Amino acid sequence: MPDQIMDEAPALPHVSHTRLSTWLDCPKKYEYSYVLEAEEDGTSVPLVFGSAIHEAVAAFFEGLKAKAPLILDEVHAAFERAFADEVYVAETMGCPMEWGDTNFEETVEKGQKMLACFVDKVDRDLDVMHTEYAFDVKTAEGCVLKGFMDCVVRTGENSYKIIELKTAKRTYTQDRLLYDLQPTVYIAALREIVPEADKIEFEYWLLMKTKEPDLKILPVVRNAGDLQELKDTIRGYLLGISTGAFPRRRGWLCDYCGYAKACRASCDQPQSQQAADPC
Ligand code: SF4
Repeated sequence: MPDQIMDEAPALPHVSHTRLSTWLDCPKKYEYSYVLEAEEDGTSVPLVFGSAIHEAVAAFFEGLKAKAPLILDEVHAAFERAFADEVYVAETMGCPMEWGDTNFEETVEKGQKMLACFVDKVDRDLDVMHTEYAFDVKTAEGCVLKGFMDCVVRTGENSYKIIELKTAKRTYTQDRLLYDLQPTVYIAALREIVPEADKIEFEYWLLMKTKEPDLKILPVVRNAGDLQELKDTIRGYLLGISTGAFPRRRGWLCDYCGYAKACRASCDQPQSQQAADPC
């Protein structure tokens, strides 16, 4: 299995599971994020928190790969450093943290408890091949599938498992496990990278933000029909973005959308200004 697959001439459209999911959730949000590259209204604590937890877990997996697993204090230090750095960047780049009813210290304490649970429960015999594995794969649909796999482990001579760590308040629903695009995209990509693989598995590792943290391991299965459906979705996405039509999809996601203010304001402008606005 190659260390990294990087396309030398990425002139083709770039597709990732986040781009696909954002476009499916709300094309207008996709436009703000990927076409206009607009700043979000603020920086959500869960986003920065999840990213810092990821960094700490990646450091732990790297230690496993080197057969020198980090101790808990080192994992905590990696988390605190990453969290402090991201908060600093958010606050100084004009995208302030939206602390709500929490604060820096409380959030760090919560992260430390969750990571203690992770370090306690994680299987230290994992045969870690890659962490933060960047993939960059040309597809038959005429695009480049890109992303980062949190961790790829070897499970046999020619079989692999992708582990994707998430932080969550609640466990995933059956619908999400059945239809979520991330496992489908990652399995499709790894099949392209290692076509001779006998078996490719995928697991979500949910590090629960519950009062008593927990680590839940949720295996996800995808079959040939799911991979075919992904190709259909990619074709639809490529056609959709090429037309430049990005309608709003109003719904509960609007409450959590980082572009909610811009989205509303662009339609509250006088009609004379709207003529020059894509709204
Ligand atoms: S506020 Fe709602 S409709 Fe507007 S971009 Fe965000 S998700 Fe889409």
